[in-house]
Amino acid sequence: MDTPKPQAPSPKPPNGSASPATIQVTQATPPTETPALDMMARLATRRRIAREGNHVYLDSLFTHTDSVVARWSDRISLNVRLVPDTMLPRWTPALLDEARAAMRAWDGAGSGIMFKEVGPSDSADVTVRWTDVLPDSGQVGSTTLTWGRDGVATGARMTLALRRNSDSVVVPPAMRVRIAIHEFGHALGLPHSDSRDDIMFRNSPVPAPSQRDQATLRLLYVLFPGSLRVQP
Ligand SMILES: [Zn+2]
Repeated sequence: MDTPKPQAPSPKPPNGSASPATIQVTQATPPTETPALDMMARLATRRRIAREGNHVYLDSLFTHTDSVVARWSDRISLNVRLVPDTMLPRWTPALLDEARAAMRAWDGAGSGIMFKEVGPSDSADVTVRWTDVLPDSGQVGSTTLTWGRDGVATGARMTLALRRNSDSVVVPPAMRVRIAIHEFGHALGLPHSDSRDDIMFRNSPVPAPSQRDQATLRLLYVLFPGSLRVQP
């Protein structure tokens, strides 16, 4: 949906989309050259993605990342800081538990990484905030993943909205959890799926990561991060 350009500080919102969740991807450094992968490795990676066919949806990642495999490095956990806003109208502590449930939904899903909640004084890889309404009308979740020139993710910022727009009622709890799971999928580097059966579909009705979500995540985390562009 968003097509980040190098050095673009904030990607454009989707064109006329009323989808409930969005991924915004930004690059920390201009993608001049990516030395992480040589040409043969890039070609091999492309072949591998093509060979997986419709069992995964990783190819949609590259329309957002300018052909960069962007993911976290191989590590055990990502520090997640939940930033409660008790002054927010309609705030409820249940939101924190919903976010924790969404984090757990990705345990064992294929990345090899677990989300780990940390306190306000700890450094965080992923921060989660809440707002009443997101500026892009109709969306109820947004995640900005940032990575370096080598394709290795450096941070993720997530915002979860309590309402779809200023005229609407509060999003029901079950849907809030679904949206949070979807956004944590973006925080891991997953793109959107083209199938309603996957949690990474833009308006997914499913309550948990599907087999295809997990297969896509597993593939993402066996690929080397970095650009897949083959320079002429
Ligand atoms: Zn999304």
